[in-house]
Amino acid sequence: MERALKVLKRYFGYSSFREGQYVIIENILKGRDVFGVLPTGGGKSICYQVPAVLMQGVTIVISPLISLMKDQVDSINSIGIPAAYINSTLKMDAIREIIDGGVIGRYKLIYIAPERLESEYCVRLLKTLDIAQVAIDEAHCVSQWGHDFRPSYRFIFSFVESLKRRPVVTAFTATATQQVRGDSVALLGLTNPFTYLGGFNRDNLLINIHKEVDKLEFIKDFLRDNPEQSGIIYCATRKEVDSLYEYLRERGFSIGKYHGGLRDQEKEKFQDDFLFERFYVMVATNAFGMGIDKSNVRFIIHFSIPKNLESYYQEIGRGGRDGENCWCHLLYSREDIPRQEYIINTSSSISRREIEIRKLQAIVDFCETKRCYRNFILSYFGDNDARDYCNNCSNCLSNDELRDITIEAQKILSCVYRTRERFGISVLIDILRGYSGAKIIENKLNELSTYGIMKDYSSRFIKDIISSMIEEGYVNLKQGTYSMLKLNEKSIKILKGKEKAILRLKNSAIEVVEDEILFKKLRILRKNMAEKDGVKPYIIFSDASLIEIANFKPRSREELLSIRGVGEKKLQRYGEFILNLINDHVTR
Ligand code: ADP
Ligand code: MG
Ligand code: ZN
Repeated sequence: MERALKVLKRYFGYSSFREGQYVIIENILKGRDVFGVLPTGGGKSICYQVPAVLMQGVTIVISPLISLMKDQVDSINSIGIPAAYINSTLKMDAIREIIDGGVIGRYKLIYIAPERLESEYCVRLLKTLDIAQVAIDEAHCVSQWGHDFRPSYRFIFSFVESLKRRPVVTAFTATATQQVRGDSVALLGLTNPFTYLGGFNRDNLLINIHKEVDKLEFIKDFLRDNPEQSGIIYCATRKEVDSLYEYLRERGFSIGKYHGGLRDQEKEKFQDDFLFERFYVMVATNAFGMGIDKSNVRFIIHFSIPKNLESYYQEIGRGGRDGENCWCHLLYSREDIPRQEYIINTSSSISRREIEIRKLQAIVDFCETKRCYRNFILSYFGDNDARDYCNNCSNCLSNDELRDITIEAQKILSCVYRTRERFGISVLIDILRGYSGAKIIENKLNELSTYGIMKDYSSRFIKDIISSMIEEGYVNLKQGTYSMLKLNEKSIKILKGKEKAILRLKNSAIEVVEDEILFKKLRILRKNMAEKDGVKPYIIFSDASLIEIANFKPRSREELLSIRGVGEKKLQRYGEFILNLINDHVTR
């Protein structure tokens, strides 16, 4: 391993191996097969490149990313490691020349596209090489349960079998569920591999999901608030990239775009400009980013739902490679789901469809979960070390309050029903609050049974409830209208009292905080307690309770007990801390 460390320093200029790289390389050098699962940006390449330099013979690298092969090879050549690549862009003669070069020891690594293994000619030539290692990048491509099945990966097994001397076989991937892992090891024919499962968690990726927001407004605000920060905005289709690109450019944002439909020259230009920070924001399909080595990507926005969690995690994995924070914002709208289904049904083979649809369902569940997002993803990938709450995803950090608003929801929904789904939100609110404006009188809306049934509520509050109801799918926005509501199955269940409406409400518009500073202190205390006890902040005290505490400033255990939401148990566990905090605050 001392020699390995020297290679790392001399060629790559790094002074230590990352966790995982060390043990993986140790095993490869001992001649043991390896199956390495490391997150995107985790440093998989070095795992096979360093041994390649040290071993007698050539390392064959199989990689599906043909468009990147040249870059990868250029970049290792540039640090002084001799390498070449073989893909479908090369003619027979050129291939022969490269392999002959390999035979006389000219290359340490030869990258090949998996399709080349289907060519007998190619395989015959490859067999003349003294192969020390076969390294398989993106190993999940061999499994049809993976998200990126490449049939030609199935030829790797027979290729390795056909070699006179069996090389070390090493396989790497960033995203593999347990099923895909087992499948890959078997299909690639790894023998008793040393398996390394790197933790998937990357705390510096701050996961935020925004439901049913105005996406264009969100993006414009975000870009204005974060000038000169590198980021990628992922779209679902080329068309979406083109139109978002135009939209933002027209509004003066300096951005680039990238998708498979652009000419190679354009792609290269946009990519370079992004890497050299001639502009900061790239609008792209998932064709952009694989292998892009820009370490300071500070945000990744998903303009619509990605096709599965594997892709999502890979895409946000491109952020924050330098270890600094990367803000990940997924703009989730239920309207985007049918389009993803359409893409699956038109572009996947019949045998894949069912799998793809299941994966899509998993990411929909993810977007809709009220649990910790990080925990959800990590458990999806079988990482069992995940904590229940990460306290840095938008669910964990939400100060929104869970409330049972069944009664209010029923009032609103029955108003939608009575007005036959013909009015926008503001008119509905006017009816509910018993307002007698022209539109109301004109349409005789004041004669409805729902007229004035919420006159005790502020319109802001009703509006908050309605937008939360839309977010949670308790009622739909009518397609193609600005703000008309449409009842759905869930609405009916709530109306009939068969289902409760439990909602997260935006920071309650109802209560007024009198002592902002004390309230803030209490929130910090609550957050620390939540962290310590491994529960969500609102499980300890709701915002409403904190506001009441801040306003009332209880000084004794009895007074504290009189606060809404403070019972014996809470008093026992947290009472002293709260009373001390208030004492400190008022005597200062
Ligand atoms: P992966 O293929 O796992 O997504 P890469 O192999 O492309 O990741 O490596 C990601 C980045 O991390 C690269 O910029 C690489 O140079 C860097 N890197 C890898 N290993 C180390 C190390 N031991 N020390 C510092 N940087 C490293
Ligand atoms: Mg890689
Ligand atoms: Zn979380």
